[in-house]
Amino acid sequence: MAESLKAKAVVDSIKADLVQRVEALKARGITPKLGIIRVGARPDDLFYEGGAKKTADSIGLAHQVFEYPEDISQEDFEKAVLEIGANKEINGILMFAPLPKHLNEKKIRSMIPVEKDVDCMNLASAGKVFADDETGFPPCTPTACMEMIKFYGIPLKGKRVVVVGRSLVVGKPVAMLAMREHATITICHSRTVNLPAVCAEADILIAAIGRAKMIDSSYVKPGQIVIDVGINPDPDNPGKYCGDVDFASVEPIVDKITPVPGGVGSVTTIVLCKHTVMACEMQHSA
Ligand code: NAP
Repeated sequence: MAESLKAKAVVDSIKADLVQRVEALKARGITPKLGIIRVGARPDDLFYEGGAKKTADSIGLAHQVFEYPEDISQEDFEKAVLEIGANKEINGILMFAPLPKHLNEKKIRSMIPVEKDVDCMNLASAGKVFADDETGFPPCTPTACMEMIKFYGIPLKGKRVVVVGRSLVVGKPVAMLAMREHATITICHSRTVNLPAVCAEADILIAAIGRAKMIDSSYVKPGQIVIDVGINPDPDNPGKYCGDVDFASVEPIVDKITPVPGGVGSVTTIVLCKHTVMACEMQHSA
């Protein structure tokens, strides 16, 4: 039976650290603040926003939501984003995407200042992540994977990490972060030949695919550590969600595995807060 790498202990540990860092900033007269930019009111965005605000409250991090109508013009939205970017009270910016189709999202993303870009919306931030420049924030989900790996004392140096998924929001950046820790990386995708055999070679397998329960017992071997990033509607339990890994099939074989729910996804909002506190510290470093 595999060890279940649960999020709660990871979140509690990050929170304890952040509470102290926020207090230290407040003692200097600085209140770190997260700005959340939302166009429209998609239920998923509202759900994530509610979680982010609650997590921010729990560590004393201030927050402000900037909400705009779905039919906002490019010109008005650009002006708003530039104003938020220049607002000295806002240290970190989360912008929900995708934006409505009439907006030029690429242009808007590039307007988020890199030093406030706590979820890596701007390609310039991604460039920093790929260049191992720690002044660029990775997206929160890859950082959440790394927080799980670090908290549970999983060594990466010299280990073989196989990432399934090559998106800019999860697959590619998590591969870069693992390589930063001296892992040897393989990135797989929908055209990878003989994926089960490639996955079975991993010491650490990271699934970021978006296919419910795709990774089953045929992809894994004893001794492996499996990090499941997937969040998908569960085909077997309507109204519930599941990962990209078939937990029931994989868990009896591997050494450690992150559950869904209660795994990587539950660490992302505290990472968002951590990035914002880090951004604030950097903006106010002497
Ligand atoms: P995405 O942009 O759709 O990328 C999916 C990747 O998986 C692509 O690179 C795709 O390959 C690959 N893929 C799809 N089908 C495959 C197959 N049959 N075999 C091998 N590779 C396959 O998805 P994403 O945004 O990276 O998200 C991935 C998963 O993570 C989703 O379940 C999403 O809900 C979840 N997610 C979780 C969080 C969190 O906080 N935990 C945050 C973001 C996303 P190609 O490039 O060849 O198409």
